[in-house]
Amino acid sequence: MNILILPIGQVDMHMSDTIGNSLLKAFPGLSCNRAGDVLAVPEEAYNPARNQHNSSMILPKVSGYAVKSQADKILGITDVDLYVPRMNFVFGEAQYLGNAALISLYRLRPEFYGELQNRELFEERAGKEAIHEIGHTLGLGHCKKPNCVMFFSNSILDTDRKKSDFCDSCYLLVRRQVGT
Ligand code: ZN
Ligand code: ZN
Repeated sequence: MNILILPIGQVDMHMSDTIGNSLLKAFPGLSCNRAGDVLAVPEEAYNPARNQHNSSMILPKVSGYAVKSQADKILGITDVDLYVPRMNFVFGEAQYLGNAALISLYRLRPEFYGELQNRELFEERAGKEAIHEIGHTLGLGHCKKPNCVMFFSNSILDTDRKKSDFCDSCYLLVRRQVGT
């Protein structure tokens, strides 16, 4: 399985490498590269009333890039704040059994919560959210175990509590999907 990491809008390029390394650790037999392009943030996805971008309007563009680039999966990374209707925000979104996943770095920095900068924590959170969303593209749903990376993050506390790993039963599903 090969994954391309696609920056959407202005993104710290170092983060795509960090996230790539997290994905390599989580998924067996994976190859992971940064896309040669940067996707512009789709203007139509911006909701001025919320000052946020509608994740579900960006995801199809990510998917289109997957087809164009012949990658198995694409992980879009953006620094804009994402939402889906009926939710205040989302850390990311993915197509269930599809080729596209998307995460936002916006709410992953400790500074967002009025805490001190912590690069290591920021990178760890981004890795977890990336693994989680790629997990959805492999057909994994949300896991009830709070330590499993497939646990749904309703807040950053959930993200911090869960590990960067799959629980045994989720990992079994991953292995079945990636065929190792
Ligand atoms: Zn999820
Ligand atoms: Zn699990």
